[in-house]
Amino acid sequence: MAEKVVIIGSGPAAHTAAIYTARAEFKPVLFEGFMAGGIAAGGQLTTTTEVENFPGFPEGISGPDLCDRFRAQSQRFDVTIHTETITKLDLSSRPFKYWSDERSGEADTIILATGATAKRLDIPGAGEGPGEFWQRGVSACAVCDGALPMFRNQPLAVIGGGDSAMEEASFLTKFASKVYLLARRDELRASKIMVQRVLANPKIEMLYSHECTAALGTDGLERIRVKNLKDGKERELDCMGLFFAIGHVPNTGFLDGQIKTDAQGYVVTTPGSTVTSVPGVFAAGDVQDKKYRQAITAAGSGCMAAIDAEHFIAAQG
Ligand code: FAD
Repeated sequence: MAEKVVIIGSGPAAHTAAIYTARAEFKPVLFEGFMAGGIAAGGQLTTTTEVENFPGFPEGISGPDLCDRFRAQSQRFDVTIHTETITKLDLSSRPFKYWSDERSGEADTIILATGATAKRLDIPGAGEGPGEFWQRGVSACAVCDGALPMFRNQPLAVIGGGDSAMEEASFLTKFASKVYLLARRDELRASKIMVQRVLANPKIEMLYSHECTAALGTDGLERIRVKNLKDGKERELDCMGLFFAIGHVPNTGFLDGQIKTDAQGYVVTTPGSTVTSVPGVFAAGDVQDKKYRQAITAAGSGCMAAIDAEHFIAAQG
């Protein structure tokens, strides 16, 4: 028999949808993924330290602890949770069909809450494995890693030219002795106010028309090699931390074009709702949101998806 509601994802959007649909007695089944999109079950918050802006935790709470609490609340309402990644869907007719590596089944409605993953650059030395410095100085998240002792009073670098790169560079100046901001073009695509803030910060040195060509060090990152794209000259800079701030990829590849997405792959929803291009499939959280990208907005849209799914099921009789 088809499940009434299948939820795909494991962040605040997925668990909020699960809590709401479970309390409405739809017996939701949630696939939390197994390192889906390169991130542990629990989603992006598992990669951060302190969350201080989620209401209800006046002292702040660690990202992984908050994820554990989301999951525990789903379990309290008997949500069935599979630690499996959904690899394929057939949305051509209802009930929809779904597959993980371990099972397949049918669903009357599906809530997509698969989130997004931060992009990384393929720079020699910045990857994983011997002689590479991923998580040993190279990171894709200044907000989570910037405050680590290894980065205190050290020269750091951020790569990117958008608002998040500006934000991350400014954030890192709280800890760093200096922050290099590398942008490939000779202008920044970030908003004017963010650019002004960066340019006014004495700790930030803008390197326009520059790219990073290597991450260098011994036990951890110590230097980066940068190339001036205008004259082709390369030089090395002391740098103990290299942060990618070049955007995110929504986890929508497994949809295989069956749902309408925008040019960047984000699921398109009808404004003010979680309705997608396929009736009965709803989307919540960062997989459909490239503007707000916050835990609380993801949770809010998870609630909306649950209510939209409930209404859809009721309308089907
Ligand atoms: P995500 O958290 O993106 O999780 C979705 C998860 O679903 C994936 O990670 C994966 O585990 C799973 N999944 C993906 N594909 C599949 C599949 N095919 N099958 C099964 N499972 C799948 N927000 C705040 O409000 N406050 C903060 O302090 C804060 N700090 C942050 C720090 C960092 C470093 C980062 C990266 C983000 C931070 N955010 C913060 C943003 C916040 O984490 C996100 O907005 C929020 O987690 C998005 O939630 P989501 O439910 O959309 O999904």
